Amino acid sequence: MADKTFDVVVVGGGSKALVTALYLQSYGGMKVGVFERLHELGGSWCSLERLAPGFIGDSHSSTMSDWYFLPLLYDFPKFEEYGGRFFGYKVGLSETFHEDPEDSLLIYSYFDDPTGEKSAKEIARFSERDAEMFLKFDDLHFREGRREVYLETIFNLPPSVDQPDPQEIFFREYMKRPDAILDPQLMTMSMIDSGRALFESVEYRVLMTSVIARMDISPMKPLGGGGWFIAQGRRENNRVVGGTHNIAHAVIRLFVEHGGEFFSRSEVDKIIIEGGAAKGIRLVDGTEIRSKIVVSGQDPHQLVNRLVGKEHFDRKTVMRVGALDRDENMINWYTFALAETPHYKAAARNPDVDIAQFVHLVVKDDAQMAKEACLRYAGIEPPNPQCRFCPTNAEIDPTRQPEGKATLLCETLTIPRQKRSDREWMKFKMDTAKYMIDELHVAAPNITWDSVVGVDTSGPYDIAERHLNMPTGNQLVIDPNPANKGKFAPIPEWAQHRIKGIKNLYGTGSAWPSFASAYCGQGYKCYKAIAEDFELRKPWEEKNRPW
Ligand SMILES: Cc1cc2nc3c(=O)[nH]c(=O)nc-3n(C[C@H](O)[C@H](O)[C@H](O)COP(=O)(O)OP(=O)(O)OC[C@H]3O[C@@H](n4cnc5c(N)ncnc54)[C@H](O)[C@@H]3O)c2cc1C
Repeated sequence: MADKTFDVVVVGGGSKALVTALYLQSYGGMKVGVFERLHELGGSWCSLERLAPGFIGDSHSSTMSDWYFLPLLYDFPKFEEYGGRFFGYKVGLSETFHEDPEDSLLIYSYFDDPTGEKSAKEIARFSERDAEMFLKFDDLHFREGRREVYLETIFNLPPSVDQPDPQEIFFREYMKRPDAILDPQLMTMSMIDSGRALFESVEYRVLMTSVIARMDISPMKPLGGGGWFIAQGRRENNRVVGGTHNIAHAVIRLFVEHGGEFFSRSEVDKIIIEGGAAKGIRLVDGTEIRSKIVVSGQDPHQLVNRLVGKEHFDRKTVMRVGALDRDENMINWYTFALAETPHYKAAARNPDVDIAQFVHLVVKDDAQMAKEACLRYAGIEPPNPQCRFCPTNAEIDPTRQPEGKATLLCETLTIPRQKRSDREWMKFKMDTAKYMIDELHVAAPNITWDSVVGVDTSGPYDIAERHLNMPTGNQLVIDPNPANKGKFAPIPEWAQHRIKGIKNLYGTGSAWPSFASAYCGQGYKCYKAIAEDFELRKPWEEKNRPW
């Protein structure tokens, strides 16, 4: 590639960087080039037909909501037409019990149960008081403004560390109400402790701690009080019609239509820094591409230690980045092609469990996920880890499997990539696939190994080998602790996506969470920072919306 220059070069064509690139190219009017190491763009928005012919599995992110992509839905009318389409489930969350697989607890989706009453009835089977508490959370979220404030928080640049964000302002006001269910002490507690102070049924607490342990709130870490809105968030869950890769395809198509250029198999080795400013990139083959602005879509470790070099940062920044942990969020993310849909024992009581997005197979102990997490932190694989199952069939999304068949995403948490050798991972994968199907058989006796047509066993080994930004196999790039989210993310001096000390260098990616996941916010917020600095178009102001 000879003598290319751009207004902006983007390091990596992953899920967040692509969104920044799209906004810069379209609304920003800049000439943007994206350089991606792999053979295709999309990063963790990726689906493959590799379980078996005709079966599509999301090899990375799969469960999401349409609100993850609100800015794209508003600012790019063709986003939906190009593949940004979602399907919902009637039941958002459910669990069945090892002790009693004929029983279950179901939380219905917002689309099926807008008032929450149906879900509350389910919870009331275990505790009337918890059902009332659930409805109070539901009212606050959906009907008394918390949802809007949450969107404002996750789609806007955070304030400086000494200022409250929109959610903090909302809760401060809310907690003054005499009927408030949350108080300052609850907000500082862990999920386990605040759960025990709020909900009396172990069944409800187990379901929620099982959900959050897989997301971005550790059940043991402080500041879990607000985490009890998890049920409400998950009541709005979706997946992407035909697989998550359709989001990547839609964004790439829009980017190219607006004149953007991308280069696959183009690994960036260095960001060129001259006179304290970013001036372009150097690829591993030595090619230099010059630009006015550089956007890195990479993890903070790679950004400091490889792409820029420690010598360009002060000691405090280097130390803080070094302290960002990434050994906690490892998953076995297996997708099975099945000859038939799982039919749960618990369907005899409530048939809706058969069409739930998630069925968690749990033991009735709200500390179980924490116990497993402690073992994993010590590098020990917990015996009999808890599984969750997420199926599709023709009734749910007909585009993902042949007629009459099903796909099943199955998940357990595990230890980092570096804790096993290549050979050990290969053996572990085979054992885990077998374990998952054996576990499913406990809850859904119609499924045995004979029902399996094929399987994609994606786990820390595969994730780490595929993605330089996830070398431990951490699905969220870094562990999203309260201490490195929002205005502290990933370190306070970078929270507004500007890389302090280096002019015209911006960072984005999963390590910049308001909440960690496949949502597009980090990419959108990064554009907001650049738009402020270079006086670019601001569609949110033109359209007069709060985020
Ligand atoms: C298995 C798995 C399951 C997940 N499930 C869910 C889910 O169900 N729901 C959800 O919301 N989230 C989920 N996530 C999390 C979420 O998808 C990711 O955290 C997020 O998308 C990561 O975004 P990113 O932009 O930081 O990185 P990525 O999207 O991974 O993009 C980084 C890109 O940069 C490229 N790159 C790296 N180094 C270089 C270099 N030096 N030069 C050029 N290119 C480079 C990489 O190849 C990659 O394409 C999952 C993640 C994984 C791995």
